[in-house]
Amino acid sequence: MKIFIDPDKCTGQKRCFNLYPELFEEAEDGKGRVLVAIVPEDEQVNAQSAANACPSAAIEVDDD
Ligand code: SF4
Repeated sequence: MKIFIDPDKCTGQKRCFNLYPELFEEAEDGKGRVLVAIVPEDEQVNAQSAANACPSAAIEVDDD
């Protein structure tokens, strides 16, 4: 599983990195940034939750 943040959609609501700091961090511009190239198996539920929690629907989950 991979996760991406669409920078055009992200509005810096800070939810992803506040909820899941092991998966995301705050970039210099205040937007979210993904920390992991591949989501570890035990973090996949959290990655999906982060996508669901993003108010801007900016987080995309790729299940391949
Ligand atoms: S929760 Fe969504 S809008 Fe907020 S920083 Fe993360 S990706 Fe951006």
